[in-house]
Amino acid sequence: MRKPIIVGNWKMNKTIAETKAFVEAVDPAVTDKADWGIATPYLALATAKENAKNLIVAAENLHFKDSGAYTGEVSAAMLKEIGIEWTIIGHSERRQYFGETDETVNAKMLQAFNNDITPIVCVGETLEEYEKGITKDVVKTQTVAAFKDVCPKCAAKAVIAYEPVWAIGTGKTATNEIAQDVCAYIRSVMADLYGQEVADQVRIQYGGSVKPEGLKALLEQPDIDGALVGGASLVEDSYKAMIAALD
Ligand code: 13P
Repeated sequence: MRKPIIVGNWKMNKTIAETKAFVEAVDPAVTDKADWGIATPYLALATAKENAKNLIVAAENLHFKDSGAYTGEVSAAMLKEIGIEWTIIGHSERRQYFGETDETVNAKMLQAFNNDITPIVCVGETLEEYEKGITKDVVKTQTVAAFKDVCPKCAAKAVIAYEPVWAIGTGKTATNEIAQDVCAYIRSVMADLYGQEVADQVRIQYGGSVKPEGLKALLEQPDIDGALVGGASLVEDSYKAMIAALD
C-alpha cells in the first residue's frame, strides 16, 4: 500500500514571515491520510522546519557538488544542517529557465541519496511534445536518465512527479485518464529498470493545475499516489481544503 504524498511547490513565493504564518495555520490541520508537505524557497526553509510538526519541509533544488565555487547554489550539507530531508529535483521550470539537464538531474539524484535526502524528481513533456504524441518517449528518457546509477533500495524511496509542462499554471489539467496512463507508464519504466517490487513501492505524483476539488478523484487512479501542487498550495484555506478533501 503506497501512502499518498501531497506536496505544495511554492516556487518563488512567500517571505519568511508569510511562511511562518502559513505553517502555524496549516500544520495543525494535517492528518495521517497522506504525507503532506511544502517545498519552500531556501531562505524560508529553516523557519518552516522549526514550525512544522507534521508537514514535510522540502527544498526546491540542491546542488550536485559537496561545496565549492558555485555562486548562488546550496549544498546537501547545508540543507541537512537545518534538518531538511526532502528536495524537488528537475522541475520543468528549472529545466526551462535555469539550464537543468537530464545529466544534472541525475547528478542531483545521486547527491541527494548520498546525503539521505529523498528526491521528488519531476518529469513531463512540453505542449509541443504532447501535440507530437511523444509524451511517453519523453518521460521514459527523463526517468531512465534521472535514475542512472541509483541503487534499487534508493529508487524504491523516490517520489516521481509527472508534470506535463502544458498543465502547469495554465488552469489546464490533464484528465485523470491521461494522468493515470502516463503514471502507469512511468511505473512500467521503473519496473523495467528495477523489477516490479521496486516499481510498486515508488510513489508517483501528478502535478499541473491540481485544485482541492479534483484531488480525491485524482488519487483514486491506481498509479497516482499524490500530487505536486503549485498555486493551490499557496493559500492556507486552499491547502486546508486539500486536507479536508481526503478526510
Ligand atoms: P500549478 O499547480 O500552479 O499548475 O503548478 C504545478 C507545479 O509546477 C508544481 O510543481
